Amino acid sequence: MDYIELLSYYPMVHRDKLIYRYGTDAIRIGTDDTDVVQLNTGSEDIFSILKLMDGNHSVDDLLSMNTKLKIYDISAIIVKLFKVHALSILTKKLDSLTSGNRFKSDVTYYYSEGIDGYEILNKLARLKITIFGAGGGGSLIALQLANLGVGNIHIVDPDVISESNLNRQILFSAKDVGKLKVDAVKKYLSDRNPKINVTTSTRRIEGVTDAVKELSDADWAFCCIDEPPYIAQRTVNRACFSRNIPSLYGFTSRDSAKLMIVYPGKTGCVDCLLTNRDNLQFRKLIASFQNASFLPITPLIVPNMMLETAWITRRWLDELTKKASCVNTLLRFDFNKLKEEKFISFGRENECPTCGKECSSSKLWEIIQIKD
Ligand SMILES: [Zn+2]
Repeated sequence: MDYIELLSYYPMVHRDKLIYRYGTDAIRIGTDDTDVVQLNTGSEDIFSILKLMDGNHSVDDLLSMNTKLKIYDISAIIVKLFKVHALSILTKKLDSLTSGNRFKSDVTYYYSEGIDGYEILNKLARLKITIFGAGGGGSLIALQLANLGVGNIHIVDPDVISESNLNRQILFSAKDVGKLKVDAVKKYLSDRNPKINVTTSTRRIEGVTDAVKELSDADWAFCCIDEPPYIAQRTVNRACFSRNIPSLYGFTSRDSAKLMIVYPGKTGCVDCLLTNRDNLQFRKLIASFQNASFLPITPLIVPNMMLETAWITRRWLDELTKKASCVNTLLRFDFNKLKEEKFISFGRENECPTCGKECSSSKLWEIIQIKD
């Protein structure tokens, strides 16, 4: 970028950083001990210019407001702060980048993380996410996606709210008992953000075709149903593979949550993971579960449910912002240690019945058979 180009940009010292004098001959930018940048100058001109670098003044504005500083002085400060992620260079005024004040804090967070906040907010607003399952996982994830600014959310769940859901599915109140979960989630989200487009479906996902019908225009699919075990995930995985849509899977047990993210044809998928784990013992275990006659109660308390959904949403956001990726891994979050662990590493399997090249003849696919 040359000086002429720089004139029309809006430098922004990240809004979570404090700008302060340190003694008489230094200015510091930052808050914590670990992120402080020091300029070795006591200049009043530089101090006041830094305060004007708020994302709403262009470099041209700054020069006209302070006649003592030259373009190369300002440029040197911008370069120094930009290199350590203390400053971003915006192409438009910060005030015009967010709709009102709703996402100002988010924009600050992203820029401060070295991510283009304007770009990511726009991306989120355009996204359409289909969420399969509006129980504890699906509803709390939907709430967080809505608050992150995801513009279009499609929620699929045939179930009605029962009293036993209320302990952990906090979007639902006592007067919602007997109502459809998708209707209650839609109302909750729309009340909080009228701009969001929430659509619903009560289709029960019994086969791949059912799941495909709920994926039209979707950019992402979140699978938050785990009944019947493996079959629900396999069904959504197959549907997403056929439509080339990235997908995310959340699983819960008493002591931990698990998460995996799939990019069809690029990373290992749900069936790749199952292929990777397939052996006699695994098949015996699954077959035994399927023959068990009792229906267990979900052993989940609300803090664990919130930890799980916050963890899943955050990992997905990391994926979207390219901050970190967790593909080809089944991640585990331990509710007791409050810690994330890599549970199983796997890759694309040649014998995967969904994305592999060779046909698998394992008995596993009969045990956890999915319908078209
Ligand atoms: Zn696969």
